[in-house]
Amino acid sequence: MTAYPFEAPESQALLERAARVTPGGVNSPVRAFRAVGGTPRFMASAQGPWLRDVDGREYVDLVCSWGPMILGHAHPGVMAAVQEAATRGFSFGTPSENEVALAEEIVARVEPVEQVRLVSSGTEATMSAIRLARGFTGRSKVVKFAGCYHGHVDALLASAGSGVATFALPDSAGVPASSAGETIVLPYNDVEALEAAFAEHGAEIAAVITEAAAGNMGVVPPLPGFTEAMRRVTREHGALLISDEVMTGFRCSAAGWYGVEGPYDGGAPDLFTFGKVMGGGFPAAAFGGRADVMAMLAPLGPVYQAGTLSGNPVATAAGLATLRGCTPEVYQRLADVSSAIATATTQELSRHGIPHVVQWAGSMFSVFFREEAVHNYDDAKAQNSQAFSAFFHSMLSQGVHLPPSAFEAWFVSAAHDDAAVDKVVSALPAAARAVTESFATIGS
Ligand SMILES: *Cc1c(COP(=O)(O)O)cnc(C)c1O
Repeated sequence: MTAYPFEAPESQALLERAARVTPGGVNSPVRAFRAVGGTPRFMASAQGPWLRDVDGREYVDLVCSWGPMILGHAHPGVMAAVQEAATRGFSFGTPSENEVALAEEIVARVEPVEQVRLVSSGTEATMSAIRLARGFTGRSKVVKFAGCYHGHVDALLASAGSGVATFALPDSAGVPASSAGETIVLPYNDVEALEAAFAEHGAEIAAVITEAAAGNMGVVPPLPGFTEAMRRVTREHGALLISDEVMTGFRCSAAGWYGVEGPYDGGAPDLFTFGKVMGGGFPAAAFGGRADVMAMLAPLGPVYQAGTLSGNPVATAAGLATLRGCTPEVYQRLADVSSAIATATTQELSRHGIPHVVQWAGSMFSVFFREEAVHNYDDAKAQNSQAFSAFFHSMLSQGVHLPPSAFEAWFVSAAHDDAAVDKVVSALPAAARAVTESFATIGS
């Protein structure tokens, strides 16, 4: 039995209250701390890089709401935009100007994206992109990669990352074989497997969907040439390529992972999905790409897709203010903060002889407790997640809130100032000692 320092009585009380009315007490599984043990902290407020829990403790936030809070919490510019929008009404159920401006902002940033449709979550974006690809090609099979998470879409939950990886679930119950059977799951970064799948099923495959750079099994960027190979193979067989940039979009660079790795000699992905950063902490997401493909969507074409709150005026105001706030200086700060934290972490872990590897996608990074580089889901699963739990709890007790899973990226914001970075760095020696002690416990 692991003992966790019990220092969250108010969170514990709220968790018990929550568990009576909500399964597991949470509204998204990874929040429950099941993988690392202990009591999830219920947050009361957040400002800049800081979270404050209901017990009055402060944490440097290295989750940033799983990506959206790129400018930091309660950013004054975004706050003003949200308040101004809310003053004019919460939802119209008609078109409104902010939606146009947000779509223009996305189209201006990501060169191959000619048109977008706004939705309310990343899950909706990937679900709609898959339907659109099936409608456009008249085919039904979809290729995805093990360890990639595309939201909780039935057809895309097979061997998914994020919470599915965190809880080592083979797949989700409740997904009918008729739906899962249309999904072909391949190892990430494996061109041969991709070519073999297309050699066998090429004429039935509507699309390949991939995380632009995987971030939901920890950070695993595509190996050089992998994206181009996906482009070449899909094109040869008349399938679409969908780049899921829900996590990487507007974070890895102003144009997301595409801005880091593209443009590609063999051409760009046909469709992209976005979420997280583009909503600025509100429910706004999007899918988009080639205009001829997007023209298949209702009301122009036969592929139906809709949403009561799609393009919500308050959410789009937050997203627009966030994207406009993502200046070159912001991206420089993200790079500096990530590099300071990652460098200090690796130095401290190395000093203790702890096997680990840090992996990057732009300024997005994560730490794996294993010696060798991670190129796919099998590699990611071979990390020492017990070591991560020990590290996580030591950091938490010292006021640093990491993602409560070894299978997630660490997120920083441009509001992470030197005080926040120093707090993280000064927590590392004790956290490294905790990892070493966890090895001793396992060994005995
Ligand atoms: C978070 C995420 C999703 C799902 O987005 P939600 O808004 O949680 O539905 C899809 N794809 C990727 C790559 C993600 O990181």
